[in-house]
Amino acid sequence: MTTPPASSGDPSRRLDLRSDTVTRPTRAMRDAMANAEVGDDVLDGDPTVLALQARVATMLGADEALFFPTGTMANQAALWLHGVRGTEVLLDSEAHIIHWEVAGAAGIVGLQVRPVRAADGGVMRATDLARDIRPVSKHAPRASLVCIENTHNGAGGKVTPIDDVRAIADVARAHGLPVHMDGARLWNAAAATGTPLSEFGSAVDTAMLSFSKGLGAPVGAMLVGTHAAMRDAWEVRKRMGGGMRQSGILAAAALHALDHHLARLPDDHARATALADQLEAIDGARVVRPDTNIVMVDLPPGVSSAGVVAAAAADGVLVTPWSPTRIRAVTHLDVSAADVERAGGVLIRAIGGR
Ligand SMILES: *Cc1c(COP(=O)(O)O)cnc(C)c1O
Repeated sequence: MTTPPASSGDPSRRLDLRSDTVTRPTRAMRDAMANAEVGDDVLDGDPTVLALQARVATMLGADEALFFPTGTMANQAALWLHGVRGTEVLLDSEAHIIHWEVAGAAGIVGLQVRPVRAADGGVMRATDLARDIRPVSKHAPRASLVCIENTHNGAGGKVTPIDDVRAIADVARAHGLPVHMDGARLWNAAAATGTPLSEFGSAVDTAMLSFSKGLGAPVGAMLVGTHAAMRDAWEVRKRMGGGMRQSGILAAAALHALDHHLARLPDDHARATALADQLEAIDGARVVRPDTNIVMVDLPPGVSSAGVVAAAAADGVLVTPWSPTRIRAVTHLDVSAADVERAGGVLIRAIGGR
């Protein structure tokens, strides 16, 4: 018996579009990990981690970069670095930091989150932030930080273009506030716009980028910023339990991903667009046009996401019930053009009830 190649649209193969985190390390990535030169990164530095940090710092136009086990820990470290206990962090109302980090801003740092609602139903812009920054008052909370999520997961992988990032940073700085970018998928934003990562990186004080999303590494994220910020971040990471020893094994996967997977992100974007195009055929559904690799579909009236997810799963295609009326499908390294065509057919049947 032969195993069909991952690129075939084989209907017996389970196709997982729940997230770009589900990718498994390729054979070549596993080889790179097995062969990594390692040290003790907490003691005096692991050579492969140091190489990865230097490379990403340069890519982002930052002084320095620090390797974290997860994007969540790197985001929480950034909140700790910039945020002041008993003040607010302003960020888009659908931000990952508000909804998917188990209230770490409050639980770990003692920050109140201030959700900023985008006036046009998209992603927070400078005018939205300017509207919601409170006037100084001895009764109202003070703010200590602004965060931007780019690309924005909850909005369907939406890009905040560099001009909008700079405009938001200008508003923040006019109020004396630093800016952190949750750029778990900033790679995708750069690929989709052609704006170099260094332009995004130099527009903000710190940025987090993930290796375990579209880049296809098993673990890891980077925080970038100034030398002073990264010196503090090293201590915060250690305090949070994120000091890692022979972490060159993990950094090697990330280096391999930069060499071999970064340049193929436009394929994921094209496949998300192709899937969105197919799903446009469904009567009464609203497809959020993808900027990058995430497709959100608001289901026709009376159709529940739980029912659609179960029906698609029965046909071997996994998607996420984002809300009771919305599903999310994400393209990634292990999704071919043929897979997308098959997923489109399965979802059309699942949503149409046929
Ligand atoms: C996945 C994600 C994170 C967290 O990354 P983990 O490595 O899963 O902890 C943070 N922000 C956004 C926007 C994400 O999509």
